[in-house]
Amino acid sequence: MSIEELARANVRALTPYQSARRLGGNGDVWLNANEYPTAVEFELTQQTLNRYPECQPKLVIERYAEYAGVKPEQVLVSRGADEGIELLIRAFCEPGKDAVLYCPPTYGMYSVSSEAFNVECRTVPTLENWQLDLSGIAEQIEGVKVIYVCSPNNPTGQLINPQDFRVLLEMARGKALVVADEAYIEFCPQATLTGWLEEYPHLVVLRTLSKAFALAGLRCGFTIAAEEVINLLMKVIAPYPLSTPVADIAAQALSPQGINAMRERVAEVLLIRQYLIAGLRETACVEQVFDSETNYVLARITASSAVFKSLWDRGIILRDQNKQPSLSGCLRITVGTRTECERALTALRQQPGLTATEAV
Ligand SMILES: *Cc1c(COP(=O)(O)O)cnc(C)c1O
Repeated sequence: MSIEELARANVRALTPYQSARRLGGNGDVWLNANEYPTAVEFELTQQTLNRYPECQPKLVIERYAEYAGVKPEQVLVSRGADEGIELLIRAFCEPGKDAVLYCPPTYGMYSVSSEAFNVECRTVPTLENWQLDLSGIAEQIEGVKVIYVCSPNNPTGQLINPQDFRVLLEMARGKALVVADEAYIEFCPQATLTGWLEEYPHLVVLRTLSKAFALAGLRCGFTIAAEEVINLLMKVIAPYPLSTPVADIAAQALSPQGINAMRERVAEVLLIRQYLIAGLRETACVEQVFDSETNYVLARITASSAVFKSLWDRGIILRDQNKQPSLSGCLRITVGTRTECERALTALRQQPGLTATEAV
């Protein structure tokens, strides 16, 4: 047997997640991964690298619990929110029997993680306004153990109606976990569902330090849920999911000063987002700009593939969402620095608009 044939069938069939990093590009303006545009500096304070780290570093857990307004027993820290997505599947879904459900267009890792574990992936596309198709979900919920709902949603940028979340939570009670992926919640903090955890023991909230906290390279995320859910996830997590330097920096980012600095960054991003949206609305090749509660903006663009390529060739890297259901012609643009947004707008304004017949 070839090495290829030795591998599990579902792994052979797998397409790995097309992360912004994997897609490459030779840019100097990176607006494709919803990162914070400049680096925040930290110094390491722990020099005990001869020792294994704590599985769940106490200070990080305590600080995150305080920040999120929950009990430390309700918090799990992991290697990014992506590991949280995976741990839920590992702890709750029987391969070949149970299913995961999500509603495209949305974040790509829900399907990648399910497929890696040979867990069926059920999709119920959103309604035209990108809200949940609740009756469609009701028809598909049999055998589903985990439902992922991203809010605000990546890549569309809008919040899921809280009333729809309530209906979904009632529908799933006793059957499935409802996972609210709040990776971008710092850009609209009033919309968090953490206040509902008491009422719904099957609600799980995912968070990350990768976006508003400007630490995508750190790989640190959080799962917030009932203690019972956290205890089950603790059974399947690696013994040392976070290295000592990661825990050290995460604790600093979650100190009162760290949280203040994050809030200042968010305020700045929101101002630049306003500038970017206003600019896009006055750009010929831009047909539609969607409202955003996040640090990125989705726009429908005339001849979007040619525009994407043209900006790529000039070192301005956006994220093409054209392949997602209901997102034909859509590009996602991260809110970068003001200068980066200016460069993107300038390049977009050199593209032909609706009236032009030829691409540049
Ligand atoms: C960025 C992102 C994540 C991943 O966060 P990490 O902590 O970097 O793994 C999860 N969900 C959504 C919707 C994201 O956009």
